[in-house]
Amino acid sequence: MAIDPLIVGVARLRRQAGATVHTVVTGPFDPDGSLAPTSPGESYVPEGDDLAFDGLLECIPGGVVVSGEVTSRWRGECRRCAKAVGGDVAVTIKERYLESAQPGDDEAYPLPTDLLDLGPALRDAIVLELPLAPLCDEACKGLCVQCGRDLNDGPCACETPTDPRWARLDVLRSPE
Ligand SMILES: [Zn+2]
Ligand SMILES: [Zn+2]
Repeated sequence: MAIDPLIVGVARLRRQAGATVHTVVTGPFDPDGSLAPTSPGESYVPEGDDLAFDGLLECIPGGVVVSGEVTSRWRGECRRCAKAVGGDVAVTIKERYLESAQPGDDEAYPLPTDLLDLGPALRDAIVLELPLAPLCDEACKGLCVQCGRDLNDGPCACETPTDPRWARLDVLRSPE
């Protein structure tokens, strides 16, 4: 069985309240594939990519506080022109792991043994920071709705979209 690098032993740390340990780990973002993108417009962490954590674990009564920075990469599609876009995401976290917590608790992550699984806290933080509707550029002009040309490359030959009702009026107005 492969060892998950995001699972950290905290038995020694937990012998003394207030003790801290600097921890740097890198591990798979989505080991079971459950966070795969659900639509092409959403951004996601590339499959097989790692996330990294650099921070402190601190022993508190009944558990451990995890604080530090989580970093990962993301990819997606520009919501206007569908060009591939991507970047880095970095989030500062401060989360508690408690013996008394149950899976799904809002307040803290469970710490049933002296093996602390950083994965859930790190993944939750990254998922919240992924761009919902990424843009290749704030000024992206998008695609022409008629011919599909990427208007960032210059204007297309299409006329301004005409409402059919006005088109009929144009015919009435035009000279014989
Ligand atoms: Zn774009
Ligand atoms: Zn066009």
